[in-house]
Amino acid sequence: MTILDGKKTSSDIKDEIAEAVKKLKSEGKKTPHLAAILVGSDGASMTYVNAKVKACDFVGFNSTLIDLPENTSEETLLEKIQKLNSDSDIDGFIVQLPLPKHIDEQKVLMAVNPDKDVDGFHPINVGRMTLDLPCFLPATPFGIMELLERYKVETSGANVVVIGRSHIVGRPMSILMSQKRNAGNATVTVAHSRTKNLSEITQKADIIIAALGIPEFLTAEMVKEGVTIIDVGITRVPDATKPRGYRLAGDVHFESVSKKAAFITPVPGGVGPMTIAMLLKNTLLACQKNDN
Ligand code: NAD
Repeated sequence: MTILDGKKTSSDIKDEIAEAVKKLKSEGKKTPHLAAILVGSDGASMTYVNAKVKACDFVGFNSTLIDLPENTSEETLLEKIQKLNSDSDIDGFIVQLPLPKHIDEQKVLMAVNPDKDVDGFHPINVGRMTLDLPCFLPATPFGIMELLERYKVETSGANVVVIGRSHIVGRPMSILMSQKRNAGNATVTVAHSRTKNLSEITQKADIIIAALGIPEFLTAEMVKEGVTIIDVGITRVPDATKPRGYRLAGDVHFESVSKKAAFITPVPGGVGPMTIAMLLKNTLLACQKNDN
């Protein structure tokens, strides 16, 4: 069994990006600049945004964090987005999700200039992705594709089951893996909350992407020997023995499933760190595009 080590792979990618930034700077070109908007003080969101800002420092990017209170109006948020859209120093920016209930998430994502949409959530980028055109790929699926590619997991002709159909993970994963591309060419089944007899479907899978957000949902009885497992789930499970009072759990029962798997991502240290690395990669691409 091989661990698909997202921590190590993301660190390699960050080193590659840092090298590219050094080169840009030595040639007198623009330093990539990523901005992030955070609305409210959700614990997990704050952790993610801080990790993104720290990663920018590591690779030599400039970063701006716009920290807004929970009661920020939709109008104010849209104004901030317009400012970032028209600021030529900002190459890309993200709006950390989830947003407070009183803000229309779809409206906000639509307001982001697609050329700066380094999260790849704007319909123009989603549309371009489905048509195999150059675009910003959403960071988590982009990271999974990169992990499969770097570990040379055979995907061509493989039976892939994606569990979950969300716009940010399941849906794009199913599109990318069925495309004619690296880490693609697979035969993809998308399972979701209405799927019947899921176990029968997962038992036939060569590769399973678990993105449903239910801790330790996928168990050993549900998979075949030699399966490749990508565990996207991250849930904070209360645990009094931990200093923070919780532990991070994936969607896969790692202990039992890893015994049958050929490749498996751990949680933490699998898909999570890859997501941040690919956000940086998208920002670098945006900067290079802007500077040309
Ligand atoms: P979501 O809540 O938007 O979607 C969950 C999906 O799972 C839905 O499509 C639903 O139909 C499906 N589902 C729910 N119960 C099911 C069941 N019993 N059987 C089959 N399908 C079922 O989730 P999301 O935003 O895609 O996130 C999924 C998980 O991935 C969460 O734990 C989230 O925290 C994590 N996540 C991690 C990263 C990362 O960087 N590692 C990024 C995004 C999301």
